[in-house]
Parts: sequence; C-alpha cells; structure tokens
Amino acid sequence: MPTERHGKVRRLLREGRAHVVRLQPFTIQLDYESTTYKQEISLGIDAGSKHIGVSATTNKKELFAAEFELRTDIVEKLSSRSELRKTRRKRKTRYRKKRFLNRRKTGIGVAPSIKNKVDGHLKVIRIVCSLLPISKTIIEVAQFDQQKIRNDKIQGVEYQQGEQMGFWNVREYVLARDGHKCQHCKGKSKDPILNVHHLESRKTGGDAPNNLITLCETCHKAYHRGEFELKVKRGASLRDAAVMNVMRWVLYEKAKEAFNNVSLTYGYITKCTRIENGIEKAHCADALCISGNAKAERKDSYFKCRFLKRHTRSLHIIRPNKCGVRRSAVASHWIGDSKLQRFDTVEWNGVNCFIFGSTNGRPVLRDINGILVTAKSSVSAKEVIYKHRNNKIIMQCVAKQPKRLV
Ligand SMILES: [Zn+2]
Ligand SMILES: [Zn+2]
Repeated sequence: MPTERHGKVRRLLREGRAHVVRLQPFTIQLDYESTTYKQEISLGIDAGSKHIGVSATTNKKELFAAEFELRTDIVEKLSSRSELRKTRRKRKTRYRKKRFLNRRKTGIGVAPSIKNKVDGHLKVIRIVCSLLPISKTIIEVAQFDQQKIRNDKIQGVEYQQGEQMGFWNVREYVLARDGHKCQHCKGKSKDPILNVHHLESRKTGGDAPNNLITLCETCHKAYHRGEFELKVKRGASLRDAAVMNVMRWVLYEKAKEAFNNVSLTYGYITKCTRIENGIEKAHCADALCISGNAKAERKDSYFKCRFLKRHTRSLHIIRPNKCGVRRSAVASHWIGDSKLQRFDTVEWNGVNCFIFGSTNGRPVLRDINGILVTAKSSVSAKEVIYKHRNNKIIMQCVAKQPKRLV
C-alpha cells in the first residue's frame, strides 16, 4: 500500500530491509513478513482507441492516476509491408513458393491494429496490478451508432438503406454526389475526364465516400505535382467509433480471463457521476468516476505514459537516398559508444526527458510528447545523466491534476 512516510522508506532501504522494484512510480518491496492488512482498491479503466485513462482508488483517496497513449501507427506499418511484398512478387526474382493459409489463428480474431490496442489495455491493467493490491477492475466501454453519427435523424427502414443505395459502386456514388463536376476548378478546365481522388492516402484513409472527391484529370495531375493545395479536408472519420465497437467485447472477454473481478460500466453512467461531482472532463477524471469512488481525494499529479515501437523488422530502409545503396534499417539501440540506449529516461540541464534516437552517435532528447528539449538536434552523451531504462512504455509524472470545478 502507498505510504507518505518517506523517512521510513529511506531507513528501510538503507538497512537493506526492502528493495526497489520500480522507479516510476517509485515502488519498493519489503524483505520481511508484514501484516496482510490492506484496504479495498478499485481500478477504473476508461477504454479508448487512442488514450486510456487509469485511476486506482480506495473510497477515501486516489492512489494512482495515469493516462496512456496507445500506438496508432500499426495500420500504416502493415500496409507498407504488404505494399513492399506485392512489388517484390511482381519483380523478376528467384522463385518463391506461394504463401497462403500459413497464419495460425488463436482465440478471437481481430485486426492487428485492434489487437495491439486490446493488448495495450491488458498491459496497463497488469502494470497497476503489479503495483497495488487491486480488488476489482471496472472498464468503461462505449458503443457507437455509426449511422446515427452520420445522420442524426435516421429512423427505421433507413438503417437498411444507407447513403450509397442505388449506386453501382463508391466511385459512381462520389461522382453523382459531386454532380459530375471537378471540385477544384468547378469545370473551368473543360477537361471531360473525371477522376476520384483520395483526400487521405488510400493506404490509411480507405475508400469511404467521405475520403473521396471528384477532380478533373488536369487538376488531379497538377495536384499530385504539388501545384496547389485542396481546400476541402476529409469528412469526419468514424475510425475511432468502429475500433471501439469491435474492441469492447474482445477486451472484456480477455480481461475477464486474465484478472479476477472485472466488470463493465457505460459512458452515460460515468458522465452522470462526473457532472454530479463537478469533475472536469479528462481521461484520468473519467477513470476516477469509473472506479466508483468519485468522492475520493484526488492526487495532485498523474503519470503521462506512451506506448512506443521497439523493433524494426525490415532489413533495409525503403527508399535509399544514395544511388541504390541499401542502408540497413535496423538501427542499434545503443547511442554511439555510450552506455545509453534508445528510450532511456535521462536528465539534461535539470530537465527530465527521453532519448528518442541518435545522430552521429549523439543522443536526441525529446519530452513525452516527442518535442525536442534542446535547441540543437542532438547533444553530447557526456552532458546527459542516465536515470533508468524503459521497455516499450515511457512514463513521466506531469502537471498537477485540475481540481474539482465546484
Ligand atoms: Zn478541375
Ligand atoms: Zn489523387
């Protein structure tokens, strides 16, 4: 259980009666038998497609608050990989046996990007359970009606019809929607050939009608030559809503298997508790309400955490910039000849930051949001004080949590 008797902790460590198991949040383990008395702690998890809010509370006090940022680069990375594999198969290379049906399915099948998010949630619960004796876990999941988000007056039979009813394909629908007219020059170029252009790349943006726009071929080619910028931005993506719809049951089932005493709650209950107790809207604050102890005394700081990619499996960088010399894509974790590694927590000029990479063997320092801490792009390894190593997750204790609104 957490303590504020820092003197006692120091004494225990000095006398060798306890040892440090984690530096962030600072956690020690006693090396002698103690009483097993502990309070009931409930863990609230505000599940999300980009952020996870976490709050562990007893009915009097909040013990741990954190906000985790999940990775969002999985779709992009996997599409790049499949792109490369496709081109490789078309090139004249040595015969490779066709590969298909060679993936083993385990458990509930979900897309890799969603699997990463589900695993992220489970990892977060596991971390908190390793720090505190959690007696119950409550997860807030949300369900989204995607058709209602698009059109809030939708009713009855319209749910079966959808916006594209009566059209052969998406292209035809988009052309009809835009009135068979270039949306940039509005027909001034007199080019009869019309193209459908992806506002966000097809690779990550997909073929949804709100990502497509009609352009005449003259404008389309000019756009891709970089001659002008389009004024329209893509329509609201329902990606997060779709992810949550798929994720919620998978997450609940897996959490139930892995931890005991897991239950669900819903967004409207959280919202109601939050407003009744005059708590501001934030991931951590939501998690506090989810944990069921909204009246608990809040911590004045919280941990901001980020999931990071650890490995690159590709052997070479995709586009070599030196006349076809294929440079290795696998950068070493080590920073030059120093004892520092990528993603280490370090101190520089009294600022706590992280090593995000290296240039010419010199560490590049960034804060938790990935913003450069230094004026120059890199600093000398000698100026940097090593704190501790990180694996996949970086954590920083940040700003005071805002207090109650009323
Ligand atoms: Zn045009
Ligand atoms: Zn285009």
